[in-house]
Amino acid sequence: MSEDAGVYNYSAVMMGSPILLKLFQPDETLARRVFQLIKQLENLLTVNRSPSQVMAINQAAGRHAVSVSPAVYQLIKLAHEVSLLPGGCFNFAIGPLVKRWKIGFQGHSVPPADEIARLLPLINPRDVELDDAGQSVFLRHAGMEIDLGAIAKGWIADRVQDYLRTQGISQALINLGGNVQTLGFPPHGGQQRWHVGLQKPFAAREELIGTINVEEMSVVTSGVYERFFTLGERQYHHILDPATGYPLDNELLSVTVVSRRSIDGDIFTTLLYGMGIEQGSQMLEARPDIEAIFVTRDRRVVCRSQRLFDFTLTNPQYRLAQS
Ligand code: ADP
Ligand code: MG
Repeated sequence: MSEDAGVYNYSAVMMGSPILLKLFQPDETLARRVFQLIKQLENLLTVNRSPSQVMAINQAAGRHAVSVSPAVYQLIKLAHEVSLLPGGCFNFAIGPLVKRWKIGFQGHSVPPADEIARLLPLINPRDVELDDAGQSVFLRHAGMEIDLGAIAKGWIADRVQDYLRTQGISQALINLGGNVQTLGFPPHGGQQRWHVGLQKPFAAREELIGTINVEEMSVVTSGVYERFFTLGERQYHHILDPATGYPLDNELLSVTVVSRRSIDGDIFTTLLYGMGIEQGSQMLEARPDIEAIFVTRDRRVVCRSQRLFDFTLTNPQYRLAQS
């Protein structure tokens, strides 16, 4: 724990990411419970070790359905729906490719093209069968794997927010490796809004492009600089294009989403990253509850559309743009 002018920072490393809990009164016990909760929830969803409900589903692929707890079932059902959206590139059945690339887990070579081609038929989300009555999930073919890596942190951030509320906490911030969820107003200096840094891609964590200012909102960023490896001139990052089996390749370096629930932020960062600015902006027109900030390789910052947040640019290397 560290204290800074009445802000109590509790930190840990979990899910391969730095986790930060900011409280405004010291409470070691509460912080410990929050970290325990995160651990428990992560254990339900991980695809890297047993016992996990998601691992159990994957291990039964091609053989039988597996019943899971209501909360995990609801999350999988949501991931399934989002994976079927036309034009989207979010695909929770992407597991076999994620495992093969191993980006972020010592992976630093490009798999042979024929191996990628062989895995593509195993990532069809339509081959995931859900049964509401039995709360069970069945992967039709052996070798299929679901992967909730794109939404686990958002879901967990919301659970932490709910838990803090039940504990009577009215002001707090939790940052799960780039998924920020807030509670109430920041208590200091008459500030109405939380200031969340927009990180400069491929720079030290403290280096910012600017700050995103929000009231009780979630701010989620997904960037190609989070987990990647470089080979020759090319960078290979961890968000994969289900159509090709290779990392998504477009003009974007990061997408940030501001929304009430962090799960929405986590879903939409991945969706919007795949869609790009133009198509993504069109999609957002139908969703006044979701807003986004796109950062491009040529250092443009495009904000859509600043009803739920305002943005202060602090880095002169970047410029605000309309498209
Ligand atoms: P992070 O916060 O770690 O940057 P993201 O929310 O950007 O994570 O999600 C990236 C993770 O999602 C990958 O590590 C992988 O587990 C999974 N993933 C990769 N490609 C896709 C995809 N097209 N659809 C859904 N999940 C994906
Ligand atoms: Mg995500």
